[in-house]
Amino acid sequence: MGIRYYSTNRNLASVAGLVPFTGTVSFKEALLQGQAPDEGLFMPGSIPSLSLDAVMALKGAPYRAAASLVAGAFLSGEIDTPVLEGIVADAYNFPVPIERAAGRLFILRLDQGPTASFKDFAARMMARLMNTFRTRGERLNVLVATSGDTGSAVGEAFKGIGGIDVHILYPRTEVSDMQKKQLDTIGDNVRAISVSGKFDDCQNLVKQAFSDPGLAKFNLTSANSINFGRILPQMMYYIYCYAQIAEGGEEMVFCVPSGNFGDALGCEFARRVGLPVKRLLMPTNDNDEFPRFLETGVYRKVSPSRNSISNAMNVGNPSNLARFFDLYGGTVDRTGNVHKMPDLAEMRRRIYSVSVSDDETRETIRRVYRKYGIILEPHGAVGWCGLESYLAQTGDQAPCVCLETAHPAKFPEEIKGLLNVAPSLPESMKDLDQRSGEPYELPSDYPEFKDFLQTHLRTDE
Ligand SMILES: *Cc1c(COP(=O)(O)O)cnc(C)c1O
Repeated sequence: MGIRYYSTNRNLASVAGLVPFTGTVSFKEALLQGQAPDEGLFMPGSIPSLSLDAVMALKGAPYRAAASLVAGAFLSGEIDTPVLEGIVADAYNFPVPIERAAGRLFILRLDQGPTASFKDFAARMMARLMNTFRTRGERLNVLVATSGDTGSAVGEAFKGIGGIDVHILYPRTEVSDMQKKQLDTIGDNVRAISVSGKFDDCQNLVKQAFSDPGLAKFNLTSANSINFGRILPQMMYYIYCYAQIAEGGEEMVFCVPSGNFGDALGCEFARRVGLPVKRLLMPTNDNDEFPRFLETGVYRKVSPSRNSISNAMNVGNPSNLARFFDLYGGTVDRTGNVHKMPDLAEMRRRIYSVSVSDDETRETIRRVYRKYGIILEPHGAVGWCGLESYLAQTGDQAPCVCLETAHPAKFPEEIKGLLNVAPSLPESMKDLDQRSGEPYELPSDYPEFKDFLQTHLRTDE
């Protein structure tokens, strides 16, 4: 039997009228349901382990070999190996460069996919898994709330996949012109909805729709980072990257610029699978609820979330915090209420977090360019600044990898203003000017959203 998945809310006495879900589901069910019936997040009941030999055998191998290894470990018994290898080869058809900045400091570039953000990794895998697992004859409706990059990655990943429609909600005034263009113009089975509200409002609309029995007939599913199908692919690049850099067995530091904590969670799982991760660094922008929590032991979400130039990380109450709490023995619900404290000492030993301001972010973009000739965009710069502050504080000599989560060409004005150079567009973004398409426009109001869904969604394949 495959791994069973439980809900992070299973131990709650009651959550505002919701009955805690104490059962378990298969990967397929977790993938298609998105979130648990009690609004908790699905978690694997057991975590497979990979030997160091298996990991080191990936040295020099193509990325898809790492992807097969990790996905195979989690999905054995649920999907045939040749099918999985087909999915992985189809999903990962772009390069994954590792750049040495200096000495033992590396940058893992996750910005070479079709929408030039790291979210392509998860979205492309998840779209193909959903297509494999969905019930034939029934249309699947994917709803996704995005603060910018998730939406286009998910939209592009699902574009043209038969039997699945996608609606993307984004906050009207919080996405860049380029992001808006990327979202509005995907077309085909993918439509954008521009919401007059914040990212958190979009996320709440989507979450409410999922738990609304009146919408059950539409087979709604989530492609947000709450879906475990997105977490699984985000373990792969840590393992791939480790194998390329390591001699074998030494501990490595990974630095992950963080918003909803899905990316960092991939690293947390990679360590639990057996990867020698010394410390997981999770720098945030001005949304400093998590570094404050690590420091004080008191969790207070930032509401409303704060705007900053690393806009894909403008999250004041990260949805995957519930999974981190769960892995460290605690419970927090989706509103940010802590029901049981996690093992804070253990969390502090494993995780480091710091809040990085926009000024520091800009200064880091300048400094890294001056020092190494490398162009970072705002998210990667939050990461790098966090890494520097960790190194200054600890003097750690371990190899360190900082993730660059988006391509600098997605932030042309910012980069031009700071460095006086225009980052060259990746191939995938060169045709953006010629694309056209309009979003639907909706207020941040659940009854209206529900009405919209009932009018626009299809049930038949
Ligand atoms: C989504 C995103 C992040 C944050 O990732 P989380 O998994 O939400 O923590 C960082 N950088 C970029 C460019 C992103 O799109």
